[in-house]
Amino acid sequence: MGVGYQHTGGWIEVVAGVMFSGKSEELIRRIRRALIARKRVQVFKSRLDERYAGINAISSHDGRTVEAIPIDTAAQIAQRLDPTAQVIGIDEAQFLDSGIITLVTTLAETGRRVIIAGTDTDFRGEPFGAMPQLMAIAESVDKLHAICVLCGGPATRNQRLIDGKPAPYESPQIMVGAADKYEARCRMCHSVPRIDAEQVRLL
Ligand code: ADP
Ligand code: ZN
Repeated sequence: MGVGYQHTGGWIEVVAGVMFSGKSEELIRRIRRALIARKRVQVFKSRLDERYAGINAISSHDGRTVEAIPIDTAAQIAQRLDPTAQVIGIDEAQFLDSGIITLVTTLAETGRRVIIAGTDTDFRGEPFGAMPQLMAIAESVDKLHAICVLCGGPATRNQRLIDGKPAPYESPQIMVGAADKYEARCRMCHSVPRIDAEQVRLL
């Protein structure tokens, strides 16, 4: 412990994993327990995810919900932060800019418990947004698995389907409002075909 070190109790937890792996369920569970402990809690979620509960809540695929403030950027979290909040939840963190890294660091250094949920890999199976850095600086990381819809094994990949077919590697990382669809799959059942140069031109 260096000179000047002051224990504040702040720290960072990351709940990572593919879609359907139960990240929102786990975030909701931790937030509910913080509320039972009478902590002052604030939850944020990227506006890019608007499923089930509408815009002012996070919800899991099984329908559980907890109130959340929709934001587009890390700066908006800073602007809307309740200075008295002791526990801060952030859902869908993969969609946020890299400003989230310094923000959560400051929150932890000032004594807050920060709980971050996000998909750590994109549809290609590659690191997504700031999730790798967040997982590196966190005190605690849980990587959850879903169930592969093809073989029933542990799913660790997001399969993007466009018109029912595996999306090519070259398609964009984020497709907002597009007619794409996702399935949880294992490494072996995950498919990301490469397309030829002529097809890339048409994307
Ligand atoms: P995430 O936030 O990681 O997308 P959720 O917490 O919203 O996950 O949803 C997890 C729930 O989704 C599971 O408890 C289960 O009821 C349901 N589910 C649907 N499809 C699958 C699947 N392929 N594997 C696991 N759970 C699934
Ligand atoms: Zn499989």
